[in-house]
Amino acid sequence: MGKWGKFFAVLVIGIILAIVAILPPTPLSEDAPADQFSSGRAMQDVRIIAAEPHPTGTPENAKVRAYLQTRLIELGLEVSTSESQIDELGLKRLNRWKGESKTEQTIVNIIGVMQGVDRSKPALLLMAHHDTVWESPGAADATIGVASILEIIRAIKLDSQPARDVIVLFTDAEEVGLVGAENFFRDNPMADTIGAVLNFEARGGGGTTNMFQTSANNGNAAALYAKSVKQPSASSLSIYVYNALPNDTDLTPALEKDYVAYNFAHIGRAGLYHSPKIDADALEERTLQHMGSQGLDLTRALLAAIDFPAQKRDATFFDVFGFFTIIYPPALGWLFLISTTLCFTVFANFKQRRADFFNGAVRMVSFLVVGGAVLYALNWLSGANAGSNYYDRLAAIPKLEVVAILAGLALAIGFFGTSKYGFDKFLGAAFPILLIGFAGQALAPTATYFISLSLLMCVVPAYARHRWPDNALIPWVAALLAALVVGYMIMLGHLLLLGVGPTMLPVAILTAAIAVMALLPFWQGLTKSRAKMLALVGLALAVVLALYIRLDPMAATVPIYSLPGSVIH
Ligand SMILES: [Zn+2]
Repeated sequence: MGKWGKFFAVLVIGIILAIVAILPPTPLSEDAPADQFSSGRAMQDVRIIAAEPHPTGTPENAKVRAYLQTRLIELGLEVSTSESQIDELGLKRLNRWKGESKTEQTIVNIIGVMQGVDRSKPALLLMAHHDTVWESPGAADATIGVASILEIIRAIKLDSQPARDVIVLFTDAEEVGLVGAENFFRDNPMADTIGAVLNFEARGGGGTTNMFQTSANNGNAAALYAKSVKQPSASSLSIYVYNALPNDTDLTPALEKDYVAYNFAHIGRAGLYHSPKIDADALEERTLQHMGSQGLDLTRALLAAIDFPAQKRDATFFDVFGFFTIIYPPALGWLFLISTTLCFTVFANFKQRRADFFNGAVRMVSFLVVGGAVLYALNWLSGANAGSNYYDRLAAIPKLEVVAILAGLALAIGFFGTSKYGFDKFLGAAFPILLIGFAGQALAPTATYFISLSLLMCVVPAYARHRWPDNALIPWVAALLAALVVGYMIMLGHLLLLGVGPTMLPVAILTAAIAVMALLPFWQGLTKSRAKMLALVGLALAVVLALYIRLDPMAATVPIYSLPGSVIH
C-alpha cells in the first residue's frame, strides 16, 4: 500500500458509512409479513389520499376525511369527528389562498379509538394532520404520517389487545396554523386521558425519517426509543437544534400537557416541501418505510410498557449510521474531554515542541474562521437574503451542499495541504476543537457528543501511535476510528444543511473541521504549487455555482401561492 493508502481508505470508508446512514431502509412490499410495517401496503392509502390537493374547508378535504373514516372503521376503531371553528389567523391564511373573504370556517378532526384492556390507563395517541396546503397533493405533508398510522394500527391489531387505549387523531387545519391540534388539546375532554403522543410530519419528499423532538426531560423516553427502534435515526443534537428554531408542528400544543412525546419527520428532497409536484409518485417510498417502522417499533414498546416513561434528566443519544442507538448521561462528555486533554500532557518539555503545536493550532483556527466567513459569503452570493423565495432556497439545498463541499475541500487543502502532521502538529490542530468541545459541554451538553467523542476517537489513537511507534495494530485501529468520525461528520453535515443550510451555511464548517482533524494523521502533504492550484480551482468552482444558484430560474417545484407578495410559509 502506497503512502496515501490509509488516507484514502479512511476517506472512502467514511463516505460509504455516510451513504449508508443517509439512505433510508429498503421498502417492504405489499406481501411482507403481516406483523411488519410495509410501505407497499401504506402506499395504497397514500395514492388515494394524495390524489388531489385537499386544504381545510374544501370538498376535497371532506372527501379525504370520508375515506379516512371508512379506513378506521374497517380497522375496527370507534370513529368520531370533532368540529370546531378556525381561528382568525387561520381564516386569514385560508382566505388568501382561496381568494375569498369568509368570516368563519368549520374544521373537522377525525378521532379513532382502539379499546385497551384497562381503559383507565393513560392512552397512547398517534397523530398526523390530514389537510394539505393550497394546490399541493401533499403525498408527504402529512399523508406519509396518516398512511403510517393506518398501517401501524393494522399491524398492532394482530398483537394481543393492548393494555391501554390507542387513540388516532387526524387533525385538520394544521397548514393554516395548527388549529385542529390546538382546538383538540385545549377543548376535547379526551386530551386528559392521554399519556403519550407520537406525531408524524413531513418537510420535503424523501430522505431518512428522523425522530427530532421529544417532550422535556427525555432520559427515559429516549432510552425506550434506543432500546426498541430497530432502524433508528435520531439524536439529542437534532432535538437541541430543533428546539432552538422557531418551527412548530401539531405537537407544539401537545407539549404544553404532561405527555411523553415523540415527533417524527423527514427533511430530504426539500424542494418538494408544500410543492404542487409532491404526489404519490414523487414521494420516496423508503422514507415512508423508515417512518412507519420506527413508529411501529415505538408504538409496540409503549404499549408493552407497564407505565409510560417517567421524566428523567435529558439524555445524550444518537443513532450509529442507522444501525443502533447509543445513549448515555450527558455528564459522560466531561470524561471524554478530560481523557482527550490528558493526551496533551505529554508536553512535559513544551518549549521544544511548541513551534509545531502552534503551527497546527493556527491552521485550524484559520480554517474555522476563514471557512465560516467564506461559507457566509458564498451563501449570500447564492441569494440567501430576505427577498429570496423560501421554497426556491429549499430546492437549492443539493447545490448549496456542493458549494459547501467545494469550498470546504479548497480551504482544507489551502490551510492544511502542504504539511504532514506529526503528533505535535496534529495536537495543535485538535486543540481549538477541544476548546470548542469544553464550551459546548458546558453550554449544551446533549448537543456536544459529536465533538467530545470525535476528539476521543482521534486524539487518543494519535497519542497511542506516538507512545508505541512500533506497534503495527495501532495505526489500523486509528484509521478505523478516523473513518467512523469522517463518516459521521459527512452525514451530520448533510443533515445540518438540510435542516438550516439555506440560511446558515457556515454551520457546516464545524463538521468539516472535525472531519479534517480525523484525516490529518494520514495526510502525506502536497507540494505548495499543487495545493495552491487545487485550492484556487475549488474556490472558483464554488463561486461560480453560488452565482448560478442566485441567477437560475425559480425552481419548478415552488408553491404558486409563494410567488410574489405572499408571506405564507
Ligand atoms: Zn405538515
